[in-house]
Amino acid sequence: MFDFFKKSWYTMGTMIDEKRLKILVDGAKYDVSCSSSGSRRKNVAGGIGNAAFGGICHSFTRDGRCISLLKLLLSNDCVFDCKYCPNRRSADVPRASVTPEEVCELVIEFYKRNYIEGLFLSSAVMKNSDYTMELLIRTVKLLREEHRFNGYIHLKGIPYADPALEREAARYVDRMSYNVELPSESSLKLLAPQKSKESVFLPMGRLSEEKRELALEKKKQTGRCELKGTGRFLPAGQTTQMIVGASPEKDGQILRLSEAMYRKFDLKRVYFSSYIPVVNDPLLPTKQAGLLREHRLYQADWLMRFYGFESEEIVGTGENLSTEYDPKCAWALKNMHLFPVEINTASVETLLRVPGIGAKGAYKIVAARRHAALTFADLKKMRIVVKRARHFITCGGKFYGLEGTERVGLALSAAERTDNAVQLSLFESEERFLPEANSFLSLKTEETEKKFLLSSTAEIARSALLGEL
Ligand code: SF4
Repeated sequence: MFDFFKKSWYTMGTMIDEKRLKILVDGAKYDVSCSSSGSRRKNVAGGIGNAAFGGICHSFTRDGRCISLLKLLLSNDCVFDCKYCPNRRSADVPRASVTPEEVCELVIEFYKRNYIEGLFLSSAVMKNSDYTMELLIRTVKLLREEHRFNGYIHLKGIPYADPALEREAARYVDRMSYNVELPSESSLKLLAPQKSKESVFLPMGRLSEEKRELALEKKKQTGRCELKGTGRFLPAGQTTQMIVGASPEKDGQILRLSEAMYRKFDLKRVYFSSYIPVVNDPLLPTKQAGLLREHRLYQADWLMRFYGFESEEIVGTGENLSTEYDPKCAWALKNMHLFPVEINTASVETLLRVPGIGAKGAYKIVAARRHAALTFADLKKMRIVVKRARHFITCGGKFYGLEGTERVGLALSAAERTDNAVQLSLFESEERFLPEANSFLSLKTEETEKKFLLSSTAEIARSALLGEL
């Protein structure tokens, strides 16, 4: 990615020299408060595209569009000394800073060349918080007012900056984020001694309060009450980031904190960053936290945001999420007494809790059953993952799942393994399904329905192993 920067930078002849640009692009790569950060995949011969830790990252707009952002630090010269951070004061690394004018020039040149659609701007704390925040504001103000830049801007807030500065910044950018970094006050004290819970929660709270007040004012004027109706005040809301695995907190505690922040500050997203040991310090673990843990946290976060789960239903405060099953399957296995549920009568809230039925699927089921009673074949047409769902549902009173938590658990874990390897099952591809579904619909006897459900070779083999056949 930096080669791309270098080439573009040479052709543009910008004020920023290559050395500084490399340091500042590299320094921003550990911030994952945007969607594509954190992966590195090189292009291969004959292939197109690559993914890189830093440089250009991606984010998603409310309508689902993916946008490319230039991801950059204003400076990596920090007066704070967070133990886990390669830019901390005590680290022996090359330092660099750029001016607001230099950032603007780079953004505009890249934008004109269609390389980017926006900017993700962060910074280490230079001299003090207010000084840094003023420079960040100057940058975004210049972009908006002088260059009339209307692209997307995500700005990282600086802890302890004056509240008037954070409010001013929020008027120029689309999204702001204050990073929580660690899930507890005690870990912050130990690993990021200059930061505190308040240094992050207070600005988050003030910004969300201001957004709410603007929405109420708007409601008085227009009769509509929507947070998105607040004009240019943080239209894309706030996000935050937590490092997972640098401190001893369990997933339960991380999810409780995320849930509280979603409720209190109307956060759009909490990003989880699996800890990577880039710094040698006796207070830090020497092992990576692992991507599976990060993945499970994102799955659980999804359940809280879109499936109506409370964090305490998903995992106990002092526990980690299961590595074997995704959090929804793990919850269902603990609550087998609530299943099976009848597809044709269960509420949408109940359907959302069935493994294999996603949010879209649940609403499709509710809409479709108004017209006719649904069968397993209908579910497959709706792209419901029947191989999982069948253990938890009945369709017109028919049940074709396994019984007993242990057997269902084995089947689900086998399904997860095959999902992660090759898409083997009959229930994966609509094209494969349709001819069989049609022949099934023409016969429609109980025996053929069961045969249909088990007609994939892999499914039959699994069922035989589990003693079902
Ligand atoms: S404030 Fe902490 S995390 Fe941020 S750049 Fe400085 S040392 Fe790194």
